[in-house]
Amino acid sequence: MEVRELRKTFRIRGGLLGQDRQVVAVDDVSFAVPTGGVLGVVGESGCGKSTLARLILGLLPPTSGDVLVEGQRLSAMDRRARARLIQPVFQDPFASLNPRRRIRDIVAMPLVAQGGIPARQVRDRVQEMLARVGLTAEQGERFPAQLSGGQRQRVAIARALVLRPRIVICDEPTSALDVSVQAQILNLLAELRRELNLTYLFISHNLAVVEHVASEVAVMYLGRIVERAEADALFRAPRHPYTRALLASVLTPEPGLGVPDVGLGDTLPDPANIPPGCRFHPRCPVAEPRCARQAPRPVDGAECLLLEAEQRPAA
Ligand code: SF4
Ligand code: MG
Repeated sequence: MEVRELRKTFRIRGGLLGQDRQVVAVDDVSFAVPTGGVLGVVGESGCGKSTLARLILGLLPPTSGDVLVEGQRLSAMDRRARARLIQPVFQDPFASLNPRRRIRDIVAMPLVAQGGIPARQVRDRVQEMLARVGLTAEQGERFPAQLSGGQRQRVAIARALVLRPRIVICDEPTSALDVSVQAQILNLLAELRRELNLTYLFISHNLAVVEHVASEVAVMYLGRIVERAEADALFRAPRHPYTRALLASVLTPEPGLGVPDVGLGDTLPDPANIPPGCRFHPRCPVAEPRCARQAPRPVDGAECLLLEAEQRPAA
């Protein structure tokens, strides 16, 4: 999968003065994920991770840019063709499963929406998928409220895979689950990826989870990828000051679930009010005066003026 210069801006109604404001939720994001790879996307809430997921899934139209899968532009495909290539698994399976439908019907929905697939074949494929995610045929007869959180996430995964897509966009897929259940779901996702040669975009605010699953990691800050590296390298030797602050914040005794609170302060950045120069400068522990004026360019996958200086050959 290749994401090319993807950009999304929203207009929001202004405050007291009634002026409209522009929010740049995703700002010129490009990357490629090799087949069978897992790109982890991390960042605080409001950094644009979920908007990025929704753009890739076609749930939102991009302002500009495009997504290519196996060389085909997603923007040129209809919904059914897109659904055969790329599917989501979201955070809260309870919210995304229709409470009045039986599990087997929920899993069958993407197949039925394709049209023209014989009922018998739909039934067989659903049974096969339920078994694959560790659910019984009897559980397939139940309703979402009769299953546990982990079982419901298994249903969401079965539904995502029933069309045999190439790519799965996982947006905080385990964040609503108990820790013990999280591990089971992560293991299941890893197993399915290997067996089916799937490619994942794995979005999470939880660095431990991303470290566990991702082969590569992209760190987002206010709509931009500020650092991107192999997972091992990123966790061993983070380069960007924001990545360092994020990693440092998980090492505190009480990291909390959402906003890291060490080195970053407790104020979340405001996407409607992106600082000039380097967008991280108001919170950056090593900012210099020029950081407020000069925007860094990406150098070796990281955007920071200090790293640009490191790159300059000695005089
Ligand atoms: Fe910090 Fe300056 Fe680097 Fe931005 S460019 S991350 S403000 S040091
Ligand atoms: Mg989100």
